[in-house]
Amino acid sequence: MDNRFQGLDRFAAGAQYIGGRLRPGTSGRGHTVVDPATGEKVLDYELASTADVDAAVAAARDALPGWAGATPGERSDAMHRFAALLGERAEDLAHAESLQCGKPIKLTREFDVPGSVDNTAFFAGAARHLQGQSAGEYSGDHTSYVRREPIGVVGSIAPWNYPLQMAAWKVLPAIAAGNTIVLKPAELTPLTSLMFAQAATDAGIPDGVVNIVTGAGRDAGEHLVGHPDVAMTSFTGSTAVGKRVAEIATSTVKRLHLELGGKAPFVVFDDADLEAAVHGAVAGSLINTGQDCTAATRAYVQRPLYDAFVSGVADLMATIRIGDPFQEDTDLGPLISHAQRDRVAAFVDRARAYATVVTGGVAPHNDGAYYRPTLITGAAQDSEIVQAEIFGPVLVVLPFDSDDEGLALANDTPYGLAASAWTRDVYRAGRATREIKAGCVWINDHIPIISEMPHGGYQASGFGKDMSAYSFEEYTQVKHVMYDNTAVARKEWHRTIFGDR
Ligand code: NAD
Repeated sequence: MDNRFQGLDRFAAGAQYIGGRLRPGTSGRGHTVVDPATGEKVLDYELASTADVDAAVAAARDALPGWAGATPGERSDAMHRFAALLGERAEDLAHAESLQCGKPIKLTREFDVPGSVDNTAFFAGAARHLQGQSAGEYSGDHTSYVRREPIGVVGSIAPWNYPLQMAAWKVLPAIAAGNTIVLKPAELTPLTSLMFAQAATDAGIPDGVVNIVTGAGRDAGEHLVGHPDVAMTSFTGSTAVGKRVAEIATSTVKRLHLELGGKAPFVVFDDADLEAAVHGAVAGSLINTGQDCTAATRAYVQRPLYDAFVSGVADLMATIRIGDPFQEDTDLGPLISHAQRDRVAAFVDRARAYATVVTGGVAPHNDGAYYRPTLITGAAQDSEIVQAEIFGPVLVVLPFDSDDEGLALANDTPYGLAASAWTRDVYRAGRATREIKAGCVWINDHIPIISEMPHGGYQASGFGKDMSAYSFEEYTQVKHVMYDNTAVARKEWHRTIFGDR
């Protein structure tokens, strides 16, 4: 067998991870994981049925009392072992992630996998560090305090662009807080979520705490969201599907967390370091072949720097090495699938009617789902290429004159996930951080994330946070406990209901 397909026999038992073991789906419908770099088959598996979702939710429900009842220290210890095991399996995880997604191996080795290991270590620590209001005698006659309790069984749904990191972002805060979870990864990319769950079991996290159902969105996904025994839905994916998920979750009165699409602006003021902005724009727009919800997609460049920025980005994009994801020097891998490649190409082809494709706009060959880095100018602010989420290696550049105009253009889409501003002027930077409507604003950089800080959107990019203490709180519910301190049978306040003073 080709070296790139090593280790796949571990999935022979199936692609559902329920109650601490792999088993096959029972939907009667097969699915094939395809290597997007070659179009070759990686793995055939059977999708989850709604009955498989029921079994996973039952396993999570059965595991809940034991896991929620464990001490924070016990949960933390198990999660520290989990982090260590993921670290030991880093190369295996990087290989599988590159295989199923077509990501360059240097990206999975240096970003996806270490980020997920670090997240695991962060939430292992956080498990012992829930914070809240201090207990006190707020009424004078009572002592009040707050308990933060787990919510119950969490149902999570993830996209295909960062399968391992999405599993980490969903599973870790949930289980650190004492919940149990059923995660549905995207059908295209189940491998590393299954390996993640297996590592949780191997680290001693009890069976049923982490379950994976690999099924289609319409049946397994909707069944999970609407399931009466699921107390919270956490979804990452497109805004269109997020709206459908929200309808179902709301009709069953669930806690809801939505991480949706993005169309991040990249605002370059005329005092910016041009070389830094050019390098930042190319890196920020091409990361993960542009399939990143925070990728730089719309660069607004103040007129004096505009021409130099466009030619700098075009020149740098021309140096990008497209190729085999397993080649150490490959910069840009394929898109996730040929269908996604064709979708991106269609956006660019439609834009040719009203804008200029400065570089790229080409699929180099048809074996892999590759698309060249693409730079577009001359598009109107209200055009599709500027407004819609493309999810490919495509950057649009537009000029602006005044600072007011640049910031207004940055805010002119329905999204609000992330943004960056490039300037050496501290007041301009401060204004951008205040006025840009997004869950994250970088100054003089674009993309870096860290476990300690929250990630999440404004507006059509959703609500709720991943990573950080903020996401930990999302997976808890607050209970007010109030003790009477007077030991008096006839309490003063009763007279408002009956009797006199
Ligand atoms: P998608 O919305 O098509 O699918 C996401 C997940 O939802 C998949 O697991 C899919 O099977 C499932 N799904 C589909 N239909 C469903 C339904 N009716 N009910 C329940 N589940 C359903 O998204 P995608 O194409 O996999 O991923 C790309 C999208 O994800 C982009 O829009 C991107 O911006 C977004 N994304 C957002 C973030 C963030 O943090 N905000 C992070 C990564 C990706």
